[in-house]
Amino acid sequence: MEYHEPKSNFIREIIDKDLASGKFGGRVHTRFPPEPNGYLHIGHAKSICLNSGIARDYAGKFNLRFDDTNPSKEDQEYVDSIIEDVKWLGGDFGDRLLFASDYFQAMYDWAVALVKKGKAYVCDLSAEEIRRHRGTPTEPGRDSPFRSRPVAENADLFERMRKGEFPDGSRVLRAKIDMAHPNLNMRDPVMYRILHAEHHRQGGAWCIYPMYDWAHGLEDSMENITHSICTLEFENHRPLYDWFLDALGIYHPQQLEFARLNLSNTILSKRKLLELVRDKHIAGWDDPRMPTISGFRRRGYTPSSIRAFCEEIGVAKFNSIVDLRVLENAIRSELNKTAPRVLAVLRPLKVVIDNYPQETAEELDAVNNPEDPAAGTRKLPFCREIYIEAGDFKEIPPKKFFRMTPGREVRLRYAYVVRCERAVKDAAGNITEVHCTYDPATRGGDTPDGRKIKGAIHWVSARHGVAVQVRLYDALFTKRDPEEVSEGRDYRENLNPVSLEVLNNACCEPGLTDAAAGSRFQFERLGYFFADPKDSKPGAPVFNRTATLKDTWAKIEQKGK
Ligand code: ATP
Ligand code: MG
Repeated sequence: MEYHEPKSNFIREIIDKDLASGKFGGRVHTRFPPEPNGYLHIGHAKSICLNSGIARDYAGKFNLRFDDTNPSKEDQEYVDSIIEDVKWLGGDFGDRLLFASDYFQAMYDWAVALVKKGKAYVCDLSAEEIRRHRGTPTEPGRDSPFRSRPVAENADLFERMRKGEFPDGSRVLRAKIDMAHPNLNMRDPVMYRILHAEHHRQGGAWCIYPMYDWAHGLEDSMENITHSICTLEFENHRPLYDWFLDALGIYHPQQLEFARLNLSNTILSKRKLLELVRDKHIAGWDDPRMPTISGFRRRGYTPSSIRAFCEEIGVAKFNSIVDLRVLENAIRSELNKTAPRVLAVLRPLKVVIDNYPQETAEELDAVNNPEDPAAGTRKLPFCREIYIEAGDFKEIPPKKFFRMTPGREVRLRYAYVVRCERAVKDAAGNITEVHCTYDPATRGGDTPDGRKIKGAIHWVSARHGVAVQVRLYDALFTKRDPEEVSEGRDYRENLNPVSLEVLNNACCEPGLTDAAAGSRFQFERLGYFFADPKDSKPGAPVFNRTATLKDTWAKIEQKGK
């Protein structure tokens, strides 16, 4: 893995101080705690890079821990995909693949301990009644009528909850803190609820499940985490995190909060991404338009480009929206250095070079990567009939159009200077082919007489070129903020109706048929492309456009307005 000099940030500064003061005995131990209820997205990548990067740089440890405490939404498919994604990103969790559900017994025992200390009680109010008793930020809550239940009765009822004697929703276990606390999270929060549901790892062993705020600190404590890094929404849950650990008197990690990643033209909510998958707005979790890690992988992003992006955006304490451009620039600047250049035509228009011999085919030298001299050159076949990009020909050229147009010369990349003579049209007036003549003295594209040729276009030999499928992607949402909607509508109204374009007649230079699934190229003038790992077959690659060569976002945003 390449090494980025880590930028400092407020979390690293806190860790430096803790190391200096000996707060955790010189240890650094972080974790990434996903709930397996969806696929990971680019926001999760920020958290993975932050947590695993800190462990790496401080010679500490990093755990991958599934926060699998809510069986109704969780699934093994998500567990598997998350493990794959964390590994792919380079998050090194060693042998520390952990599951919160493995701690259910310990959590239960701790809850019993709090009951016995008089710090937790069984409450028979319904969820709705609990909400109504809770008060508001300006008014105190009201005590539950069950708050003063004797310890022995609480202990008995809690045990019977665990044994399955009561139906779902009939009782909960609550912490006994303060119903007038200014922080609503401290008003006797629920610790356990009854849920007769199969757990993907525990089967039917449990019918009570711990709530996030109760479970999370215990999980961190069990694993000897030093710095429990989470997003800003949890800042006002920290007093509760601290209260539980102090009430139990167990090892106490430090919770730290940072700003979550928000990306323009993108939704990063697992619930909404699940809706897009379920309602088939996209092809699946790994659709290259999805902001999931698996989507970016399938689009052609590399782990190092995503890590570079996370390093670039840094870690702060205030929320903001990062422009999608920053992410695209990360993959562009990497692929610019590493991707071999090839010629392909997405929307072919046939060009006949009238003065080029019918039977001849010659091989021309093409540079594989101008950024990397070691990449060398390759041979490109050239003959009388070639394809060019339909958009590179205009019968009536607009101003500053330096590509192919009747009466003018243009350079065919690595080949010759040609002069366009005329276009042939069908009965409907569509251009079916274009005729040119070439200048044999310009082999390789140079003009020995020094005459200036302003434009250079790419091409593929019609006789040697190979048809391939190419998919072009555009932003999934037209608006910078997809949540900006008209009255009564939701984010789905901002889905981009033309986010995918499939081109079945694209034509590429012959060597590309050997492209291995998962390989990356720059199609000259067209962008960076990735041989789709699922749909490519030996000898028949299918290409996804990872990114355009330049930024096309300004245009998309305008469309969205
Ligand atoms: P939910 O909890 O609503 O299912 P979530 O996105 O918080 O959704 P988790 O599985 O709980 O999903 O997230 C795992 C970790 O990833 C958490 O520590 C969370 O703080 C972090 N995380 C989630 N979304 C982002 C984001 N957009 N930016 C940075 N970190 C994030
Ligand atoms: Mg969460």
